[in-house]
Amino acid sequence: MSPLKKSEELLKTLHLSEAAHSLSQFVKQAETNESTYLSFLYSILEYEQKRREEKQLEKRLKWAAFPFQKTLDEFHLEEQQSLSQKQLNHLRELTWIEQLYNIILLGPPGIGKTHLSVGLGLEAINQGHKVMFITMGELVHALKTQEISRKAQTKMKRIRTADLVIIDDLMFMAMDQHEANLFFHLINDLYNRSSIILTSNKAPKEWGELLGDPAITTAILDRLIHRAEVIHLNGDSYRMKHRATIFTEKV
Ligand code: ADP
Ligand code: MG
Repeated sequence: MSPLKKSEELLKTLHLSEAAHSLSQFVKQAETNESTYLSFLYSILEYEQKRREEKQLEKRLKWAAFPFQKTLDEFHLEEQQSLSQKQLNHLRELTWIEQLYNIILLGPPGIGKTHLSVGLGLEAINQGHKVMFITMGELVHALKTQEISRKAQTKMKRIRTADLVIIDDLMFMAMDQHEANLFFHLINDLYNRSSIILTSNKAPKEWGELLGDPAITTAILDRLIHRAEVIHLNGDSYRMKHRATIFTEKV
């Protein structure tokens, strides 16, 4: 075996697979540039580290299961009067994740609740947090089928180990007693270990009707609201304002 091949094998054994993969390129480059031994060593170690971070980021992104990827920079604040630049900057700093604060985003459909939550989720991933996005419908399904479905089990495990859980479209559907109970237990488990972003087009006072049981509703709300920032988004639906039209001219 050539010294190059042997080195590649050793790098792989030492779990430096990215460096192993690109070793020949780095050697060639070092020869061309007449690099010093030290700068050659540094460049290959730095590469391994960078690729690892990139792969981690890709993994966390896949893990998060966002419905789309839209950033906070793509969110037009001038379209959304109910959120100030200062507030958005504050949210972007993500200190609320470390402090286990929840964010509750309320407002009518099309106002940007999902976009904002995905944008904050992306920011959190970039800062090294684990994020999981799930709609309320999917969550209830996963909670109910976790005993019998591997897929649901995986989802629930991700939720339980995430630093930030985004639950989109809360209370979109009425829940029965069993579902409300399962949901309560999850919120209780997350209460002291992660942050939650909840979006809903219903005000919290209406949540009771959808959860059915007033005692469970109170228990859930207590935990959700205890450390939470409630943001009311209002105005016209962004979707409606910017909808595509098949007419070239307005009539
Ligand atoms: P909601 O979850 O409140 O129903 P979405 O977040 O799904 O609304 O927003 C609907 C669409 O409009 C998305 O494509 C979103 O990116 C866009 N949108 C909403 N508000 C804004 C905004 N202020 N700036 C840019 N895009 C927006
Ligand atoms: Mg939405």
